[in-house]
Amino acid sequence: MGKFSGFAVTLRHMFRKPVTTQYPKEVREKPVRFHGRHVLNRYPDGMEKCIGCELCAAVCPAKCIYVRGKDNPPGNPVSPGERYGYVYEINLLRCIFCGLCVEACPTTAITMSNMFEFSVTDRNQAIFTKEHLLVGEDGKPNRKLGVEADVTADALEEAGGWMRATAPGGNANFKEEVLWSPEAGVGTRLPEGVADNHPRDIGADTRSPEGRVEQ
Ligand code: SF4
Ligand code: SF4
Repeated sequence: MGKFSGFAVTLRHMFRKPVTTQYPKEVREKPVRFHGRHVLNRYPDGMEKCIGCELCAAVCPAKCIYVRGKDNPPGNPVSPGERYGYVYEINLLRCIFCGLCVEACPTTAITMSNMFEFSVTDRNQAIFTKEHLLVGEDGKPNRKLGVEADVTADALEEAGGWMRATAPGGNANFKEEVLWSPEAGVGTRLPEGVADNHPRDIGADTRSPEGRVEQ
């Protein structure tokens, strides 16, 4: 009887739809909370959200973020804060994609996209600098040529920096009125619900519609 039950299991699975996908021709839909590579976001007016505070680097358990802040040039500020992220690097070979840097960031400057297709032949190529991490003026992520796979314009649109897994509310599908700055160029991503008096909401109240801090 034992050997026939083994055959029965085989037969049952022979007529089931295979669960394997033929990557890269077929790509599975990514979960809402997918942790892909990071992006550095801008405000709708194009200003950089990073204020060079280095909190992301301090919290990173893999010690793979290097930030150096610099005072904003008085006549031509890069960010609305006193300082901006002058140097920003992430070594993605060391990153464990935990998302703690996203949680720590006071301005939602760093978020994780759903881009994951990159391969390197030299460990230096795994260091993504500000040049690659900072989204363009249109709000769309940049691609690191020669390292990241060719992606369609639609995929780039979809990969906009907002990662929803950051909300303290914990519900990845929760949709609510946008309480803080939307991404530039790629439309508004609805955030999750956040706890009352969450610092991100308080931060949003101090900004004018143009994205600059009101004095
Ligand atoms: S995702 Fe985690 S390991 Fe990767 S850079 Fe952020 S804090 Fe560090
Ligand atoms: S990404 Fe956020 S936490 Fe990191 S230095 Fe910039 S503002 Fe600070």
